[in-house]
Amino acid sequence: MGILPMVKADAYGLGARRVVETLEPLGPWGYGVATVEEGSRLRHWGVSRPVVVLSPLPPGSYRRAVEEDLSVVAGELAALERLGAVAREVGRPGRFHLEVDTGMGRAGLPWDKAEEWWAGVERALGPHLVWEGCFTHFHSADVRDVSPTLEQCRRFAEALRRREGPWPQGVLLHAANSAGALRWRELCRRASFPLPPPGLVRPGIHLYGGWAGEGSPAPAPVAALRARIVMVREVGGGATVGYGATYRADGPQRWATAAIGYGDGLPRLLSGRGRALVRGVRVPVIGRISMDVTVLDVTALDGVEVGEVATFIGRDGPGGIALEEVAGWAQTIGYEILTGLSPRLPRVWVEG
Ligand SMILES: *Cc1c(COP(=O)(O)O)cnc(C)c1O
Repeated sequence: MGILPMVKADAYGLGARRVVETLEPLGPWGYGVATVEEGSRLRHWGVSRPVVVLSPLPPGSYRRAVEEDLSVVAGELAALERLGAVAREVGRPGRFHLEVDTGMGRAGLPWDKAEEWWAGVERALGPHLVWEGCFTHFHSADVRDVSPTLEQCRRFAEALRRREGPWPQGVLLHAANSAGALRWRELCRRASFPLPPPGLVRPGIHLYGGWAGEGSPAPAPVAALRARIVMVREVGGGATVGYGATYRADGPQRWATAAIGYGDGLPRLLSGRGRALVRGVRVPVIGRISMDVTVLDVTALDGVEVGEVATFIGRDGPGGIALEEVAGWAQTIGYEILTGLSPRLPRVWVEG
C-alpha cells in the first residue's frame, strides 16, 4: 500500500517545501494537493513522483495540469472529457483519479448512479488518458461511531461492483484520510463485508501533529507556536489593555506584551480566554488580541524579561498547550489554526 501524504495549503500551514524534502527519502507514492498552483510548485521544487490535485478543477486549469504532469480528479464525466481533449491537444498523458461521492456531497460521481456513469467512463478512456486511481472521501471518520464510515465503504464497494469486467491493472483504490487510515483495522473488524483493498492512504492532519479525531491515537507533537516577549511592565489597579479596553486590572499586576497577533494567525477569538506558557507556566491572554501583539498577565511570574519566549501551542518545560485546546478556545478545529498561520510567521525547522 502506498502513502499519498496531503501537502495542500502549504502542508497545513507548516511549509510544504520542507515537508516534502523531509518526506521524500521515505518514498511516498506521491503527494496530494488541492490546486494546480500547489501542484506546479512541487514540480518546480523537483518532485518527480505523482502529484494528485484532489479538488475539482476550474475548466481553465486542465491545460496547466497536463503540462506539469499533475494527476487530476475526475468527479464527473465532463471533467474526464475535458481532460481527454486537453491531453490530446497538448500531446501528453492526462492522468486522473476517479472520485466516487459516497456522502460527502461536494464532488464526485454519485455512488448510487454507478451503472449510468461507468459506461461513460469506459467511453471516455483512450490512449491519452492514464487512469491512476479511484477513490472516495470519508465525512465522519473522526467520530467514535464507525457506522457512517462503514456505510461509505459499502457504497464505494457497491459502486465499484457495478463496473463490468475485471478491475483494471494498476488502478489504485483509496479512501482513508488520517482518521480512516489510523482506524482501518477497527473498520475491517466491524465491517460485515470485505472493504475495498486500499492501494493508497491519504494522511494529512496526523502528519502535522493534529488530532485525527475520536478513536485515533494522539499524534506526536509536530508544530509549536512561539513569540518573543517584547515589553514587560507593572501596572496599577484600573489600567486597561487592548482595543475597546475590555480588560481592566483589579489591582497591581505585571503584563507582558508578546510579539504575535491575529495578523500572524493567532485567532482573535483567544482574546480574554486563551492561554500561553511562559517559563512553563500557563498565563492568561488579557484584553483583545491586536494584529501584531498580544498581552499576557504574568503577575504570577517573578522577573519576566523582554526577550523571553511565550508559547501559544506546544510544550514549554513541564507545561504544554495542545493544538486542539487552542482550537477549542477559538471555536474551530486544529486544521484551521494550522492553515491560518500567516506567512509573516517565520517557520523554524528543528532537525531530528
Ligand atoms: C485533506 C484531504 C485528506 C486529508 O485529511 P486529514 O483529515 O487531514 O487526514 C485526504 N483526502 C482528501 C481528498 C483531502 O481533501
